[in-house]
Amino acid sequence: MIVAKFGGTSVSSKGSVLTLCNIVANELGRQPVVVVSALKGVTDLLLSLSTLPENKIEKKIREIRKIHKNLIVSLWNDKRLQSETFLYINSKLNEILQLIMKAEPGREFLDKLVSFGEIMSSYIITRALESKGMKAEQVISTDLIVTNNNFGSAEFLVESTKRKTQKILTPLVKTGVVPVVTGFIGATRSGQTTTLGRGGSDYTASIVGYCLKAEEIQIWTDVDGVFTADPRLVKNARSLPIVSFKEASELAAFGARVLHSRTIRPAISAGIPVRVLNTFNPKNHGTLIVEKSRASGKAKAVSFKRKIILVNIYSTEMLRQKGFLAKIFKVFANNNISIDLVSVSEVSVSVSVDDKKNLEMAVKELAEFSHVSVIEDMGMVSLIGEDITSSTKTIRRVFEILDKEKVLARMVSLSAANINISIVVESDKVEKAVKALHDKLLLK
Ligand code: ADP
Ligand code: ASP
Ligand code: MG
Repeated sequence: MIVAKFGGTSVSSKGSVLTLCNIVANELGRQPVVVVSALKGVTDLLLSLSTLPENKIEKKIREIRKIHKNLIVSLWNDKRLQSETFLYINSKLNEILQLIMKAEPGREFLDKLVSFGEIMSSYIITRALESKGMKAEQVISTDLIVTNNNFGSAEFLVESTKRKTQKILTPLVKTGVVPVVTGFIGATRSGQTTTLGRGGSDYTASIVGYCLKAEEIQIWTDVDGVFTADPRLVKNARSLPIVSFKEASELAAFGARVLHSRTIRPAISAGIPVRVLNTFNPKNHGTLIVEKSRASGKAKAVSFKRKIILVNIYSTEMLRQKGFLAKIFKVFANNNISIDLVSVSEVSVSVSVDDKKNLEMAVKELAEFSHVSVIEDMGMVSLIGEDITSSTKTIRRVFEILDKEKVLARMVSLSAANINISIVVESDKVEKAVKALHDKLLLK
């Protein structure tokens, strides 16, 4: 059994959907389970509905309808197939309208609202596979993936998800049916729709792969695999044939959008290789992510994040105190804030976070026992590679390069796990730093 996930661009045009159908047809011998994202741009459009005044909503819905209609019309000449599919899309758009009219605003509502993107795309892809002579069935993942109630970035509950996923998907694949699973969404125990965070369809694929003990998880996207840097920003970045689980996790967590940050975890625990492949260049080998790749002691890739927030916490209470750091981290944990980097001196602690959610509350609590300052709109640049910090040469070169570019490091973190060098810089210096580090350290 394999799991093949197709991202937004891979399900949005006639050409890519036909390629998807070919890929699935070629893999029928390995019992593929397909996972799909919403059509490109649809998740953003759905989210925007939540903030629009009532008189603008119809227009936005028309935009969403048009994206789906264009695809449907381009895919088939068969009028009956076209109208059945269009009828389904229209019924979902009506459900969206009703939801907006009666729902209370909040995260629960937003998750329910955006879930329609994947629900609509999975229907189209199911019909596309059928039209190519395959047996396929749409599966809405609220029936498979049980999550906690952290709306917007929910975490799956292992045992119940495993039970449901196996119960629903195994009989399908055993009878030669290709399940087409909605990415990105799950449901709480009580059945409320949740989402796994932006880009979460990758995570769905790896959760499903983990539950079914798949032999491989394929992430089909719009580039030739995992690159040495985001190819959109760095034109001479190159695709990496092989990276380790650890390197891929670290890259994803430190900003490389090609994989959702939690994708690799289930794959690691079940030892399932992950392949990142290009729907627009399907013959390319892409990137294979496996347990071990050759550690070279050098940087393999550079990633970046924007909109980083630095929180500096000062207190003389810290001097030779025990438990002060625990007190600080407890505040972040209690407010459900995930910390990226930490740097500690005798009387201060600096942490970087990438989400403003709950931050105000945390700062208030920290201010009860320390002096706190918050610096917004910073950027973070990370160099990733196993054994990267084992050579003094790499570290020296990083600072030489930044010095030459006149980029000031506001905070630095060398992971003791020897895989990541991260530097917080002014937001408008991110691009310069990424390009310079890539040119000098990653171009052969
Ligand atoms: P999908 O919709 O298929 O999930 P995404 O847009 O989420 O696609 O992810 C693919 C994009 O990730 C690429 O188009 C690329 O711009 C970006 N990206 C960022 N960093 C990297 C990297 N290191 N390697 C490859 N792609 C990257
Ligand atoms: N459609 C969702 C998003 O845009 C999930 C995904 O594409 O992976 O974030
Ligand atoms: Mg993605």
